[in-house]
Amino acid sequence: MKKKVLILGGGSGGVITANKLKEIMGDQLEITVVDKSAEHTFIAAYPWVGFGLRELPQIRRPLVALQRKGINFVQAEVLAIKPQENKVETARGEFDYDYLVVSLGAEVMPSPVAGATAPWFEAGALQLREWLRQSKGERWVVGVATPFHPCPPAPFEVAGMLDFALTVKGLREKSSIEMFHVNPAPLIGMGPVISHAISKILARKNVEFHGEFQLAEGGDGRVTSKDGRTLEYDRLILVPPFAPNKVVRESPLAGPNGFPDVSPVTFRSKQFENVFVIGDTVNPGLNLPPAGVVVHYQGEYIAGVIAAEEKGSYIGEPFNAVAMCIMDFGDDAVLPQCDFTAMLQGKGMPSCGVMAQGRSVRLAKMLFESMFFATMF
Ligand SMILES: Cc1cc2nc3c(=O)[nH]c(=O)nc-3n(C[C@H](O)[C@H](O)[C@H](O)COP(=O)(O)OP(=O)(O)OC[C@H]3O[C@@H](n4cnc5c(N)ncnc54)[C@H](O)[C@@H]3O)c2cc1C
Repeated sequence: MKKKVLILGGGSGGVITANKLKEIMGDQLEITVVDKSAEHTFIAAYPWVGFGLRELPQIRRPLVALQRKGINFVQAEVLAIKPQENKVETARGEFDYDYLVVSLGAEVMPSPVAGATAPWFEAGALQLREWLRQSKGERWVVGVATPFHPCPPAPFEVAGMLDFALTVKGLREKSSIEMFHVNPAPLIGMGPVISHAISKILARKNVEFHGEFQLAEGGDGRVTSKDGRTLEYDRLILVPPFAPNKVVRESPLAGPNGFPDVSPVTFRSKQFENVFVIGDTVNPGLNLPPAGVVVHYQGEYIAGVIAAEEKGSYIGEPFNAVAMCIMDFGDDAVLPQCDFTAMLQGKGMPSCGVMAQGRSVRLAKMLFESMFFATMF
């Protein structure tokens, strides 16, 4: 009988791992992806939906298409992970496995400010588009109230794209854009070089940045920080709080802070050695950024780790803790590259630099999106 690989989540990590395992192992393993949604969403493109560059069907693919490649797909909500029994409970029954890969992402929590939204999910992207459609010139605030959220660069991209979108509509002179953030300076976690480059872009775009803004309360057109600063707005784009995925948080895989305790070398659970956890479900707990580029490398890498166990040895992709992220500001773009190896080892800050800047860099992000869909589905 073939060994079973059960992959929870048909998001970035899930489809990358499934494809890579299939490529390496062919029909030697039975690979099954489980997701509550019928479709994969390329989440990084939600801001593009908000700014009218994409429609929802363009950023989605039916997960059943994986079956053409011989990868099983089951549409079902995962209810419980039972690693002591090598079983997973879903709304469509129980599944057993020889290897379990968990890539269930992060969970969006309710926004702390009523009426705020963000293009971090479908409703937020559509709401932003509606706000722009109705815009006549407003006070916009883009806020980040929690240190943990998928894609730390994205709020800065959204502020930059907002500037360009309002310019195109002829409304920039009548509008203001301010940003608040828990951190003292833009992307300071990526070091001074990146922080300076992004600060310059925000300044050029007349986006006023308010750092160390710990949100105390908000609503009725104003947000107030714990140290008493107040920003007034007509439209609030607030990145929602996120938590490690609930099913994982409530499973025996969870560590004390909710993130699973996995090896930073193989991404194997330290308690259950046939279980791997990758992506936004685990990365903040490993000091890695919750970013698609990181889970991409992790998915390809663990496919090789599983293949090595099955074949006796297999030299696959190395895990590359070097992440590139193309930041799209609409009329400009920046390509930062960061080496997170020291952070992963608990030995210090990432080493980052700006690899490229300019409007043409946006094309690379669009090319990546096309390549992703072409190779995964
Ligand atoms: C606005 C925004 C912009 C971004 N931009 C970039 C970028 O430019 N570059 C970059 O590298 N990264 C970017 N990211 C981050 C990137 O999208 C994530 O890091 C990546 O998608 C994480 O992959 P994952 O597999 O961990 O989770 P996800 O891709 O979120 O996949 C999780 C999957 O699990 C499923 N699921 C969850 N719970 C259950 C359950 N109980 N039962 C069944 N299925 C379940 C979900 O339906 C989903 O399909 C961005 C993120 C956002 C929000």
